[in-house]
Amino acid sequence: MPVPVAARRPFRIAGVLFGLSACLSPRNPDGTGPAAGVSVFGGGSGGSSTGSAGAGGAPVSAGGGEGLPPVSGLAGSGPIDTSSGAPAQCTSFTPARVSRIPDPEADPALAARVEGIPVPQRVRQMYGFPNCDYNSGAQCFQQQPLGEQDLPVWEMRDGPRGVRRLGAGPATAFPTPVARAASFDIDLEERIGDAIGRQMLAFKYDLMLAPTVNTLRHPGWGRSQETYGEDTVVLGEMGAALVRGIQAHVPTCIKHFAANTTEGNRESMSANMDEQTLREVYTRQFEIAIEKSDPACVMAAYNRVNNTFSAENQELLTELLRNEWGWKGFVISDWGAVKSTLPSALAGTDLEMPNNMYFGSLIELAEQNTELTARISEAVRRVLNVKRAFGQLDEAFRTNDAYQNRAIDENIINEPDVLALVEEAAEKGMVLLENRDAFLPLADGARVLVVGPDGDVARIGDSGSSQVAPAENQVVTPLGGLQQVGGNHGATVDFQPELAGALAAAPGYDAVVLVVSMQHTDEGEGYGGGDDRESLDLNGPHPELWTAEKPRAWIQQLSAVNPNLIVVLNVGGAIVEPSLDQARALLYSFYPGQAGGTALARLLFGEVNFSGKLPFTVASDPVQYPIFGDSSTTADYPYLHGYRKFDGEGLVPRYWFGSGISYTTFEYSGLSVPCSQGVSANGMLIAEVDVRNTGSRAGTEIVQLFVGFPGTTARRSVKELKAFQRVTLEPGETKRVQLSVPARDLRYYDQASSVWRLEFIEHEVLVGPSADPARLIGTTFNVVE
Ligand code: BGC
Repeated sequence: MPVPVAARRPFRIAGVLFGLSACLSPRNPDGTGPAAGVSVFGGGSGGSSTGSAGAGGAPVSAGGGEGLPPVSGLAGSGPIDTSSGAPAQCTSFTPARVSRIPDPEADPALAARVEGIPVPQRVRQMYGFPNCDYNSGAQCFQQQPLGEQDLPVWEMRDGPRGVRRLGAGPATAFPTPVARAASFDIDLEERIGDAIGRQMLAFKYDLMLAPTVNTLRHPGWGRSQETYGEDTVVLGEMGAALVRGIQAHVPTCIKHFAANTTEGNRESMSANMDEQTLREVYTRQFEIAIEKSDPACVMAAYNRVNNTFSAENQELLTELLRNEWGWKGFVISDWGAVKSTLPSALAGTDLEMPNNMYFGSLIELAEQNTELTARISEAVRRVLNVKRAFGQLDEAFRTNDAYQNRAIDENIINEPDVLALVEEAAEKGMVLLENRDAFLPLADGARVLVVGPDGDVARIGDSGSSQVAPAENQVVTPLGGLQQVGGNHGATVDFQPELAGALAAAPGYDAVVLVVSMQHTDEGEGYGGGDDRESLDLNGPHPELWTAEKPRAWIQQLSAVNPNLIVVLNVGGAIVEPSLDQARALLYSFYPGQAGGTALARLLFGEVNFSGKLPFTVASDPVQYPIFGDSSTTADYPYLHGYRKFDGEGLVPRYWFGSGISYTTFEYSGLSVPCSQGVSANGMLIAEVDVRNTGSRAGTEIVQLFVGFPGTTARRSVKELKAFQRVTLEPGETKRVQLSVPARDLRYYDQASSVWRLEFIEHEVLVGPSADPARLIGTTFNVVE
């Protein structure tokens, strides 16, 4: 019988914790032998994918691109067969693994081709131009041409929210990834990837630098906007989807490996953590994305991990990526992240960018070092192998004919499908958190006052590497959107940018919309003028632009003269601000892309319903988050993170991970796990739940499935998200939603023996609208051998 889950246990610690050395020691694939009631999966997943969790239920065909097998991009590999009682998938299923990059070592012709290139030219596939000019971007995104060898070189471009053309012209500016994460829509993310990949080709670029899948550890991180939030499964699934979409056209680089979670000190700091934390929290999303999308390239981060720079980190680049995960792509450095020659090359960095500061001396060093020569050949095989996999070694690509001289297609940004997609993404990515007295949607004929200095500005994100310049005529500000859409509803929409004017006018309106935006100087990448945020509230240094009165004063004073205050947070991460409780309606629009104003207006006027959910936890006090600062050179990264920290430490956030409401309401009931004999180690957890729309409007709910581990003897989180699914329901409609999770994804990393272990114990499945324990219904199931 499903029961509401009110209070959770704190996490447990058992056994000795090992640091990085545990991982560097030779691995016994069977560990020290399975303990009673525990299954051991070899030292790494290697070629056998974990088929990690995601939105379950009906499999979604993902894949694409020549030679790609169709994949279930999500959990499971086929329809759930329930004809004979318990579904067969409870005991057995075949994980799907996307294979896009062939094995460079399996092709003697490739090896011969590389050996045929003299070493001085060969190494030129391993670095950029010597004279990158960071100001103009000139020669910062290319490999050096290889002269007489006639091998093509890449023209690379960022990034996560569209193509960064560095002044060459406009591209479509999608909502930032944190907003797209809030949609929990994997299919949408793959379509966005497809659009970005097509624009790369149309603008004549060959290698994309996206997505960012770093764990959002603290909302102060300047690049919070660029990643998919705090949860490992969301990060992995969304990252994989973007890669699949982009790689239908060009190769792409998933980044930043690993644990790049601060901006100010990114080049000096070391993220220090034990092995279980590294595996489960800071690298698992890369593993998921590799299994489900096979990115051509992984970008080594600036920071050190356990005191070793990522670009010279043998454990990360060789042990994990290549040996354990069986990945066949190449490692590119972040721009300037190589800090040494031999250690970086030997650890597994294949391509130094943006210049040849260190790898320029490889030629000299290779003369006396056969190990290095072999490593150079291996790196070049990996690079050329990717070019070949994407047709970039073909005659048509190489020579200055049709491909190289083709015209740039500027018109691609005007395609109706792309314009619809960018708006769909903005609508699905906005998260409504409060709608007191069902004040929204705005009524037809409403008199609406937009206020504040950000009301008529489209703030679409950072000015660092993820910057995208959209066509000016495609950008819609909040005011512009409300005026345009409001016109269809007989509404009056006026604007007051100054506080005095806003206070004087506000009483005469049915609703007041206060847009509070951050800009690149508040949060963003250092060289784009940004940095980490110094405070999380709205009364301190941010937003910088609000110099006279901070947003807190606006909220307090406006709500006193007109209680119908709608606050829109146009930001990248959590805002912890008590005055927000005075707003009648509160929503995160995040940085919503070029169509953000239209999306906001359509949502506020009820043309579409809100469906987004927070991809991070909003604390009720900043002290609930981990310690964060950008001056230290080392930081300890504890095991408990995000909502797992709130669960484990018994903290009550202001809004749990996964929170978000709409203009209708949903009810969950009838949770069951139809695996009557338990879930086998090679099987899949299947959970079914009735979700009913109990309101009077159609709506889409994001159903979230967490698994808990009562009875574990290991250190584990109270619960972990394992699957999610969007479900659309008419008023009064009920759907039985099925979610599935491969048993392999219920494992934890046992650092004492360097293996992933499945525990043959009773588990708990918890399903509901967010991570809030009070909103989840639960039942138990056994994992069996
Ligand atoms: C960023 C990367 C980006 C690179 C190239 C670096 O500063 O960290 O994410 O891909 O620049 O623009």
